[in-house]
Amino acid sequence: MEKVVIIGTGCAGLTAALYTARANLQPLVLTGLHPGGLLTTTSIVENYPGFPDGIDGYELMTRMQKQAERFGARVQFGTVEAVDLTKRPFTLMVDGEPIEAETIIIASGASHRHLGLDSEAKLEKKGVTYCATCDGALPMFRQQSLVVVGGGDSACEEATYLTRFASTVYLVHRRESLRASKIMAERTLANPKVKPIWNSVVTEVLDVKQDRVTGVRLKDIRTGAETVVPCAGVFVAIGHVPNTQLFKGIIDMDENGYIKPKRGTETNVPGVFVAGDCSDHVYRQAVTAAGLGCAAAIDAERYLAAKNH
Ligand code: NAP
Repeated sequence: MEKVVIIGTGCAGLTAALYTARANLQPLVLTGLHPGGLLTTTSIVENYPGFPDGIDGYELMTRMQKQAERFGARVQFGTVEAVDLTKRPFTLMVDGEPIEAETIIIASGASHRHLGLDSEAKLEKKGVTYCATCDGALPMFRQQSLVVVGGGDSACEEATYLTRFASTVYLVHRRESLRASKIMAERTLANPKVKPIWNSVVTEVLDVKQDRVTGVRLKDIRTGAETVVPCAGVFVAIGHVPNTQLFKGIIDMDENGYIKPKRGTETNVPGVFVAGDCSDHVYRQAVTAAGLGCAAAIDAERYLAAKNH
């Protein structure tokens, strides 16, 4: 039986792994489908303390994993398919195999939100993507017009990154100003290749018939007027949804699926703790996720100490 199973290897999961490993709890850390979490799809992380010149997101996560492993954390590629939290020890089904655990730290993060259009789904990976760092350099996008949808830090980051390859980057946002942090918004709008299109939403990605992206149909939300902007790619950067479906009806959540801790990182099930983007819709930063991962590890360690003495 495992003393601690950590679900997720983003900043929260790997920091929880580091702390529980150093507490001699030999945590088992399950990667899910995206080892390293969302940060591995970022380019340069400029706001993680300790890296004055920034650090590549993938490199940061690789270092965090190495650091946790150095103290005995075991990182296993695997996806949790079901959990039974009604009896102790808890049981997790991981790729068809049961794993028993005294405590669980949920650090399952969040995934990219989709626009929800039929045409978007049909053209995913055929010009519609959710990650500029992963796909921006593909030949199909080079020297082409591209569209980024969104008005937050992610959209700014994607748009700025894509200017390396694209001829023009249209930044389509449903408001008249960006929600992104001032520094990111200013940097993005100062880039001559970025052309903002305000007060507009994408109503269709074209062209499903051709089985590739040729443009987007936009609607001006003030006038209702429709226009078509030709482009070779659509990068959707409109926020995230928490990866918590597995715990629906078992662990308390808010109406958007974010896990609601009871006290500190404790959930409504004693012995189950939560950290990072799957419970935080306010701060959502690498460093806050890491901080919460640390807190969850300390809470789990104290819970085990109290239970076993
Ligand atoms: P976000 O801040 O929630 O912004 C999402 C954007 O998408 C908003 O502008 C929102 O519009 C728009 N949007 C949402 N649903 C939409 C829809 N259905 N159709 C059209 N537009 C839609 O998300 P984010 O940019 O991913 O950032 C998430 C968090 O990560 C933030 O805390 C951010 O600071 C952080 N982050 C930081 C960095 C960095 O510092 N380097 C980089 C990336 C992300 P409204 O404005 O109208 O709501």
